[in-house]
Amino acid sequence: KEDIQAFFKKNAFVLFTVGAVVVGIILGFALRPHKMSYREVKYFSFPGELLMRMLQMLVLPLLISSLITGMAALDSKASGKMGMRAVIYYMTTTFIAVFIGILVVLIIHPGKGSKDEFGKQQKIEQVSPADAFLDLIRNMFPPNLVQACTQQFKTKYGKRTFHVTVNDTLFNSTNGTQELMEVTQEEVIPVPGQVNGVNALGLVVFSMCFGLIIGNMKEQGQLLRDFFDSLNEAIMQLVAIIMWYAPIGILFLIAGKIVEMDDLTQMGGQLGMYTITVIIGLLIHGVVILPTLYFVITRQNPFLFIAGILQALVTALGTSSSSATLPVTFKCLEENNRIDKRITRFVLPVGATINMDGTALYEALAAIFIAQVNNVEMNFGQIITISITATAASIGAAGIPQAGLVTMVIVLTSVGLPTDDITLIIAVDWFLDRLRTTTNVLGDSIGAGIVEFLSRHELRSRDVEMGNSVLEE
Ligand code: ASP
Repeated sequence: KEDIQAFFKKNAFVLFTVGAVVVGIILGFALRPHKMSYREVKYFSFPGELLMRMLQMLVLPLLISSLITGMAALDSKASGKMGMRAVIYYMTTTFIAVFIGILVVLIIHPGKGSKDEFGKQQKIEQVSPADAFLDLIRNMFPPNLVQACTQQFKTKYGKRTFHVTVNDTLFNSTNGTQELMEVTQEEVIPVPGQVNGVNALGLVVFSMCFGLIIGNMKEQGQLLRDFFDSLNEAIMQLVAIIMWYAPIGILFLIAGKIVEMDDLTQMGGQLGMYTITVIIGLLIHGVVILPTLYFVITRQNPFLFIAGILQALVTALGTSSSSATLPVTFKCLEENNRIDKRITRFVLPVGATINMDGTALYEALAAIFIAQVNNVEMNFGQIITISITATAASIGAAGIPQAGLVTMVIVLTSVGLPTDDITLIIAVDWFLDRLRTTTNVLGDSIGAGIVEFLSRHELRSRDVEMGNSVLEE
């Protein structure tokens, strides 16, 4: 009996969270026949909206303080090596993901060369890949740090607009929420790398450089090191409190979404096949490739590792935002999987901003699906172009709901496919977004595990150098 009690105590969070998903799904389907109005759905989902806001509230201070302390805790040679390992891992896994996406869509061939069954489409403005690329680089260097934390970042080449209504739900990527409105409105496309009005990419670059510098400063840097260390610790304690609320929020996020989603009858035909193809691709990457990679490198059980981050995965599923999930990912990796804090602080914020395996897989797959629907045969060169732009688009996509759909524009433009056709897949995107976000978070977490394993010697010698007691194996 004590064993059972101990088990429940240890796994309470995970059990609550998984239970919340199940109850959310049941509740959502039970309430669907009641045909709630927009207002009612909004009231009903309110506890979920609060969770999103709480998590997002922590992202900014967490991102900055963890990166700065993470970098400051390493010497520049060690952090350079670890950074290289992380980047090699990100690039490799993203390319594998793109490859799998292309492979499954070519084999299953869900698009049948007819657009009629999708209903009416809407106009989306063109964005040139060169502009998008320059934007990405531009955002790495925010001219005003305070503004980078708070304001929307305007692109140099003017305001782009993106207006799509799905099911009368306004797709509002700019502030990272899905607002329920009854009219179509124009929205500014978020600049690549922008999270919830925050230029995450710029802050990542700044914090890394800043951390590196204060790490190399002698006594003079101590005050700053202590300050950011203590800030980081305080934020993590806040995360611990919010995690108790997370299951409730996730329950209502999921139930609310199910209440307002389109009828499933639409899921027949090409869109249904498309959905299945995406699911198969994500499963191959998340359940076969990443765990195998983890096992081959570390010789440890990958599924035990995944069990440790289950709560982060469920949070990703509930929030469809890898940035909002970041605080939970930290907590799971540090507490359950005992990943060294110097690694998580350094690798996770970067991973959540630029490493998105699920998004890369999705964008490549979706672009080829759209080609199939248009009866356009992609040649080898075009497929290579798609894999490169899908990788770039996944790096540029912010970790917010449905950001990947916005950066799709770049992929489609690069091979001359009609960007308006993004609206063909929008009806199922809210669902597929959750799955690809979960894959993104899984990729970041496994990356932290692998980088820690590969960096164990550097961590050890740093411990010896600093006189820390050597961490247990
Ligand atoms: N929602 C995804 C994420 O936050 C990005 C995407 O839309 O693909 O990771």
